[in-house]
Amino acid sequence: MIPREIKKAYQNQTRSISGLPGPNYWQNYSDYTIEATLNANESKLNGHELVIYHNESPDTLSRIVVRMYQDFYKKGNARSWKIDPSDVTNGMEFDNLKVTDFSGKDIYKRDYASVTNLTVVLSQPLLPGDSLMLEMDWSFLIPQKSWNRMGNYGNDIFMIAYWYPQIAVYDDIDGWDKIEFNGVTEFYNDFNNYDVTITVPPGFMVWATGDLQNGADLFSKSVLNKIEEACVSDEINMLFTAQDCRKGKVLKNRKKKSEWHFKAEYVTDFTFGLAKEVNWQGSSLVVDTVTGRRAFVDAVYPDSMITFPQAAEWCRWSVDFMSKELPGVPFPYSHMTSWSNGRRTGGMESPMMANDGDPTSKASAAGLFFHEISHSYFPFYMGTNERKYAWMDEGWAAYFTRFIYDSLFSDYHYAERMISTFERVSGTEKEVVLMTPSYLIADWQSYRSHAYNRSSAAYTFLRDMLGDDLFKQGLHTYMMRWHGRHPMPYDFFASMEEGTGQSLKWYFSPWFFEKAYADMGIKKVTLDNKVTIQNYGGLPLPVQLSCEFEDGTTEEIYRTAAVWQSGLDAVVIDVESGKKIKSIRLGSERIPDVNRANNEFVLENERGN
Ligand SMILES: [Zn+2]
Repeated sequence: MIPREIKKAYQNQTRSISGLPGPNYWQNYSDYTIEATLNANESKLNGHELVIYHNESPDTLSRIVVRMYQDFYKKGNARSWKIDPSDVTNGMEFDNLKVTDFSGKDIYKRDYASVTNLTVVLSQPLLPGDSLMLEMDWSFLIPQKSWNRMGNYGNDIFMIAYWYPQIAVYDDIDGWDKIEFNGVTEFYNDFNNYDVTITVPPGFMVWATGDLQNGADLFSKSVLNKIEEACVSDEINMLFTAQDCRKGKVLKNRKKKSEWHFKAEYVTDFTFGLAKEVNWQGSSLVVDTVTGRRAFVDAVYPDSMITFPQAAEWCRWSVDFMSKELPGVPFPYSHMTSWSNGRRTGGMESPMMANDGDPTSKASAAGLFFHEISHSYFPFYMGTNERKYAWMDEGWAAYFTRFIYDSLFSDYHYAERMISTFERVSGTEKEVVLMTPSYLIADWQSYRSHAYNRSSAAYTFLRDMLGDDLFKQGLHTYMMRWHGRHPMPYDFFASMEEGTGQSLKWYFSPWFFEKAYADMGIKKVTLDNKVTIQNYGGLPLPVQLSCEFEDGTTEEIYRTAAVWQSGLDAVVIDVESGKKIKSIRLGSERIPDVNRANNEFVLENERGN
């Protein structure tokens, strides 16, 4: 059953039933020019912002919705994420709000705030194809104890994300996205252009989304040379150490405040990290074998980190794997910085920047770095709506992460852990149908299973069934059609079907639209070796049988989830060995099953012997 909003999109031809963007597809975007200044002592960020907002839609807009993410910390506001009382602030304070049309005419009428959204009512509507300018000064206190994806981490380390007043997405499905930022809901952003200048106190350095425009004015000659070398080298280069920072070898002038100027085009967000005494490792690799394009992969961390000194190595592995294997699309950015917040835990992606903790176990660390980097594709390259469909990015990130574990840390048993977490919720009242909009899910365990576990399992067994080549044909069809755009689940399902040439509704329905759960069992074994597998939970999963015969030999039988294509709730597997079955076990630790008690069969007449 297709929701009314989606049907309307088909009628308007912004999208199509075949999963292609329709001939009338459009999306809006902004050009941001931001000057931000860090006051480290007061843990405060001030900014001046000028936004040019382009209305590419066929609609006349009488108002503009601006996200004030920092109102998450505002006294009295609702939150789904606990914060320390000391971090409760006045939220985003702004001044001199000015809205003009392109001739410079003032078109501001009034504004009103909800929880984290500021709605600006226009005195003259914004016509299709037209743009407006929105300008303001703002400031906020950077949280010092509650690090919801950003904050002041102490020891002169700051990560600034979810920060600037940002024009919400206006799309062909919902119009204005008015979902409030509650600390859990993450990305749904337009593809914007950014020109950001960050002024920092003496000794501070900045890493950010986009490309640094004035590195030559900031770094010492020796550091510049090393960066240049790393940009063409496959080796991991130590660009500088925290000791170098202390000795004054890194910056041209560390006694004066400095301005860091970055530009980024067609990205869904802009974040930056600030630090004074850190180590910086850099490397690069060819990410596009056709054009020879290289991406710079780097890691920034203070001395106290345990696993971060190896981060650059794992991040290189990650970018290489993603470019060549899965999703098998050249890394979309010029650089990928994995940036240590100096703490043990946490991980937050943004385009070209990941804000990472430093787990003490190497396996956890490598997995974390990989996971955050993989978000470069979903949701950033693809522009999915994580507020409504978290599984469209977290599910992929959770699935892809399995490969760094399988390759480098197989004894961590990542895939098995993901499966057992899924089993805890699968088939319970807590489990929500994947198509439930994510922002409606208040329970943390339900949300985690929806965003990460059930979805990654659905992708895992889909690829297992189609095989890598056919799966990639489907995935790449979806990615090529929708990158840089805003795909919805129906665009994904239809594109996978078109790309693979297969009808997959029978697979997508129970996984994404129903509460089917993971429970299969052995129902019957006949004397002529026909094994009936009953699918009690209705979820299409692979059938793995470990058979032991009377002569002591064994055999493994594996059928992908395709055995359930007929839609029946039982299948018969013919064990064609010609030998007498002594016992059979169904399943494996890599296949979820909430009830394994019905997975064993032992031939009755053997039991008494
Ligand atoms: Zn994630």
